[in-house]
Amino acid sequence: MITDLQQHIQELRHLINQHNYAYYVLDEPRVSDQEYDRLFRELQTLETQYPQLITPDSPTQRVGANPLTTFATVTHKIPMLSLANAFDATEVHDFEQRIKKLLKIDDMITYVAELKIDGLAVNLRYEQGKLVQAATRGDGHQGEDITQNIRTIKNIPLTLLGQDYPPILEVRGEVFITKTGFTELNQHQLTQGKKIFANARNAAAGSLRQLDARITANRPLSFCCYSVGQVEGVLPNTHYEILQQLKQFGIPISEYMQILQGVDACLIYYKQQLAQREKIPFDIDGVVYKVNQINQQERLGYVSRAPRWAIAHKLPAQEAMTQITTIEVQVGRTGALTPVARLMPVTVGGATITNATLHNQNEIERKDIRIGDTVVVRRAGDVIPEIVCVNLEKRAETSQPFVFPTQCPVCSSPVIREDSVARCSGDLICPAQRKQRMQHFVSRRAMNIEGLGESLIEQMVDKGLLYDLADIYTLTYEQLVNLERMGKKSADNLLKSLEKSKNTTLARFIYALGIREVGESTANLLVQHFGNLENLIKASQETLEKIPDIGPVVAQHTVDFFKQLNNIEVIQRLQANGVYWQTSEIEPIQQQLTGQTFVLTGTLTDLTREEAKARLQKLGAKVSDSVSKKTTYVVAGEKAGSKLEKAQILGVKILNEKELIALLDQ
Ligand code: NAD
Repeated sequence: MITDLQQHIQELRHLINQHNYAYYVLDEPRVSDQEYDRLFRELQTLETQYPQLITPDSPTQRVGANPLTTFATVTHKIPMLSLANAFDATEVHDFEQRIKKLLKIDDMITYVAELKIDGLAVNLRYEQGKLVQAATRGDGHQGEDITQNIRTIKNIPLTLLGQDYPPILEVRGEVFITKTGFTELNQHQLTQGKKIFANARNAAAGSLRQLDARITANRPLSFCCYSVGQVEGVLPNTHYEILQQLKQFGIPISEYMQILQGVDACLIYYKQQLAQREKIPFDIDGVVYKVNQINQQERLGYVSRAPRWAIAHKLPAQEAMTQITTIEVQVGRTGALTPVARLMPVTVGGATITNATLHNQNEIERKDIRIGDTVVVRRAGDVIPEIVCVNLEKRAETSQPFVFPTQCPVCSSPVIREDSVARCSGDLICPAQRKQRMQHFVSRRAMNIEGLGESLIEQMVDKGLLYDLADIYTLTYEQLVNLERMGKKSADNLLKSLEKSKNTTLARFIYALGIREVGESTANLLVQHFGNLENLIKASQETLEKIPDIGPVVAQHTVDFFKQLNNIEVIQRLQANGVYWQTSEIEPIQQQLTGQTFVLTGTLTDLTREEAKARLQKLGAKVSDSVSKKTTYVVAGEKAGSKLEKAQILGVKILNEKELIALLDQ
């Protein structure tokens, strides 16, 4: 009779095997590593308590999953095992105690600490110095023959250097993709309309296990060696020296490796790597401590699926599983709709995450993300959390695809699609756009209205005091003084600064209107060309396009803006309310950013790249395409990739879009 416990154990095994298949064979994990590790630990604990229930086919007794039969099979001469895990310092100390007991010594043990690269393990076989075979780990005993694919990896030598290499030498290590390579690969996949990869490990595994090696050749794979397999010949007698020797043969090894005395030193190494994790150019999921002396390793030997002389000390996961409670669609100043997933709070890498960006409608459709879905979220450094994948097994049967609104969620105006961006067509009618446009209108480089901040504008729009830009100049003392956190003095001051701001320039006024893509320098150009507002309002697309530096997109947005009667009405009311400008004088060019170099990367939401560039240049800054030590600031928008990483490595100051706007508005 099967007891409840046996039943539970069977269920756990079944679930883990399914996850193994999805992860190792399909390269498409369905749950986070954290969740997988939790299930695995639970099974291990139960099997430790009830050893009579262990079966040889239990996932705790095996490594990985069966190799794919589409590749030729390679039988490993020496099994390729996994590593035991330690999740905290106590477990690392326990590891050392076990070793000392087994070796019957009390002396300090020498370890080699290494990074645990998150890629996939391979075995490379060299005979007489020539690469003759390469295989994946597979189930630890049999792997897939991926020799052709491995040959395409540029840092793997096809012939070893020197002459004194062992005649038969198997080297083992990790094939992986750097963070930069991963971002670029996914960007490329996106432009080709192909599947994007959940994380760098899956991308590496998917790239390596291709039946067509030409595809592998185009993927940014690297190799890093961390041990040997079968060796016929002589190698040094410590792990550290073996790796140094392999380096002499031309095999790439890690520069992060350190030789350390005792586990306390290992724990310091752990802390150091954790602190600099963002700067490490590839994903790591832990650090590994290995006993350095080969004779000690041999005496310690192996358990079913891992050596006793090594342990992986896991780093906090950068991914976690949670549920999407709802999907909200936010509206920006230019009307762009951005979907945001609201999540059940979950801790990832030490921070609590409650939201994840969904970027746009295409992204939701591609990943088929739905309200109520259980998802894996990933947070890496300061980058906005993203959804890696949906756990389809946990999806409710009643679940429905998310329907992207066809009407603006704030003002109900029709939503229009422009490539991947959906936009509210309501312009000034839309309160969400209104709030943000008003903030822009009052900002320093626009109408320069002091004392009219974000929260005040919010309050006044919500109370119906401000409907369009022209209403700003109809505000009365009574209306102001009754607002929250507004005293008599502040109300007076605000009225004064409103009065003062009425005397402006045409260029500032045009800029303040917030026409898409029309920044300060474009506004100046328009004034220079048309001299007055009437001429600009009447200008056709062709006339606008004839102006040097004005492209078809800016021309189109300008024409569209003035075509809308409500915009004209607002302009007339602003003038009727007292806004005026003297002549068509051009704003003096300010040069406070002279000598500074900026690099823009990622997607900006409130400014376009052109606008940001033009505004920076107008203030005397240089805008460059590549990051170097000479770069003053890197402006990182959403999905910033390699340039952001490079800036972090070089210690270049990083600004987000808000900070950039604040700098420009100064
Ligand atoms: P592992 O990845 O935890 O550890 C062993 C592997 O580490 C080796 O095979 C090697 O590939 C790698 N490694 C990297 N750097 C190394 C170094 N310096 N020295 C030695 N080895 C190094 O073990 P595993 O058995 O491959 O996989 C188990 C882990 O994989 C789980 O803990 C989980 O995180 C993940 N996993 C996740 C799912 C999922 O569905 N999300 C499923 C299966 C496994």
